[in-house]
Amino acid sequence: MLLVVAWPTAFAARASVDATRLDHAASDPANWMSYGRTYDEQRFSPLAQINADNVRQLGLAWYADLDTNRGQEATPLVVDGVLYISTAWSMVKAYEADTGKLIWAFDPKVPREIGPDICCDAVNRGVAVWKGRVYVGTLDGRLIALDAATGTPQWTVQTTDRSKRITITQAPRVVKDRVIIGMSGGEYNVRGYISAYDAASGKLAWRFFTVPGDPSQPFESPIMAKAARTWSGEWWKLGGGGTTWDAIAYDPDLDLLYFGTDNGDPWNAKFRSDDRGDNLFLTSIIAVRPETGQYVWHYQLVPGDEWDFSATQQIVLADVRIAGKLRKVLMQAPKDGFFYVLDRRTGELLSAKPFTVVNWASGIDLRSGRPIENPAARYSRTGKPWLSQPGAMGGHSWQPMSYSPATGLVYIPTNEAAFPYTPETVFTAKPRGMNNGLDKLAGDLPPDPAARLQIAAGLKGYVVAWNPALAKEAWRIDLKGPWNGGVLSTAGNLLFQGNASGEFAAYRADSGERLWSLPTQTGVMAGPMTYEVGGVQYVAVLAGWGGVFPLVAGELSEKSGKQRNVSRLLVYKLGGSASLPVQQGGERALDPPAETADEDTLNTGHALYANFCSDCHGARAHGGGVLPDLRTSGLLGSDAWFDVVLDGALKANGMASFANVLDHRQAAAVRSWVISLARADKAAEALTQSP
Ligand code: CA
Repeated sequence: MLLVVAWPTAFAARASVDATRLDHAASDPANWMSYGRTYDEQRFSPLAQINADNVRQLGLAWYADLDTNRGQEATPLVVDGVLYISTAWSMVKAYEADTGKLIWAFDPKVPREIGPDICCDAVNRGVAVWKGRVYVGTLDGRLIALDAATGTPQWTVQTTDRSKRITITQAPRVVKDRVIIGMSGGEYNVRGYISAYDAASGKLAWRFFTVPGDPSQPFESPIMAKAARTWSGEWWKLGGGGTTWDAIAYDPDLDLLYFGTDNGDPWNAKFRSDDRGDNLFLTSIIAVRPETGQYVWHYQLVPGDEWDFSATQQIVLADVRIAGKLRKVLMQAPKDGFFYVLDRRTGELLSAKPFTVVNWASGIDLRSGRPIENPAARYSRTGKPWLSQPGAMGGHSWQPMSYSPATGLVYIPTNEAAFPYTPETVFTAKPRGMNNGLDKLAGDLPPDPAARLQIAAGLKGYVVAWNPALAKEAWRIDLKGPWNGGVLSTAGNLLFQGNASGEFAAYRADSGERLWSLPTQTGVMAGPMTYEVGGVQYVAVLAGWGGVFPLVAGELSEKSGKQRNVSRLLVYKLGGSASLPVQQGGERALDPPAETADEDTLNTGHALYANFCSDCHGARAHGGGVLPDLRTSGLLGSDAWFDVVLDGALKANGMASFANVLDHRQAAAVRSWVISLARADKAAEALTQSP
């Protein structure tokens, strides 16, 4: 007798992903099982049900409101009909991928008062799945394994020293039963490393430090002893930097794991390493063995970096025909504005050409692999300010790019935003709430609204379609301003991108022709993805404005249109007919109380604000549509200001107490300055509105 049993889906194994499945993910287009879809992180999908001919029929299939209003940067994963996301504050959710029904939700309860320890919003870029578990790194440095069927924690490890200002924003990746996780905090006196934990037990398998520690102690490995020869002074006292907060890729054939490292800490090379040496392994791409973490090769993009030119931007692997020869390449479009193509077996540099405006170097010398620096760019040596293109925001940041084997093009979400570096004459490590890099910028936005508008006019954003075989741009899509979303390319000859203007849009992947868009009611930063359930192709993206740009630049980020954070998961399909709710709520008008503080108090208040407040609230207290606009705050006229600033009354929202660095008089001076700013801005508004 033949017994046929139809298992209810509730009992089907969840997230049953293993090495074989991930190694062959390219031929499993229904699923998106790792951050960049495949180990090579191409973010290309072979799905073509939605294509350049029918994309105009794309509509919203379903959406889910998220229980946070901070920046959303995660790429959803889909395995066998279940969609997994992480959100701001490192929360995780699982949905039925076709209906949008919530299956479970997990909140790691990250203490919100960690706010001052994070440079760039309370973001998280995604989860990993492996053998029935979902892995998430949390903002407070934990790595947690969840049961994929229920969301129940199976194990938790603290990957960081909680006395240090180290955070996690990155999506973990799993290779050979190792969960690989890096860390963030490159402006907060930390020493960079990347770790691998056993996927089943959570036991630490290996840790690779990216910069050497105290040379009076034994080095962790021979390669650290070598790296130490490229440093001077007492770098280890401040940590050195070299964090590992985004890029990871893996080549199963070569069995090489690749990751990128970030800037030095502090940025200024004079105060980091006596202005001497290459400072390995800052701003480098490193290849290691995934099982042991053993070093194989490295390529340092920017020796002795002092511009926050990370090499943490996404690493993409592909086989590309260059000068008639099929090469196994590794590609990166890092912050420094050059598009790098390396031989991924050896680390040999094959090409490096600018994909955006670059003024800090005239090129990259292919023989030595070193940049040909503009001497004026080394502000530590000249002692003079330097206006750099690109700057710390990066020609390209974490917003994922995509490589389409169908068109042979790499699509890069590109920013054009000059950044002023001002050398300090004396450097002291900054306490909690302050940033070793950005403090000089924040106070420097001009008070004159016309001057600020002029700065905003210089900000640009576009998608560059880069031909890696020819090392040149094929074409570009111009957008209204910078800080647009990551991209997805598909075999349907489509390129998808959400943007800072509050749209989700589709373009022809071979020409950039705009084909379709729908409003998203908020700026989109995250990378889109696509999957198939029950024969239907879906495209999903997390919407939710935020990240470092609106937080630090405030009103300048309105170049693409005024955004406020509305955090949602948006899922589209052909003929989808769902619609977003009508937007509620307007802006609060500027209505500051009277202020009688003297000039000295206002200057003190401004200086304190620039040091302790502006990294999150922006140079001019604007909030960027993510945090409250302090200029319109009801607290300005109330003693509740001190409850918040000194007593941590809003710590549940991420606003920690600053009583460790500000006394009552100083907190009052900050308030006086914010009131004076609000009054000046209100007066400027009245001027522009008068006939
Ligand atoms: Ca950095």
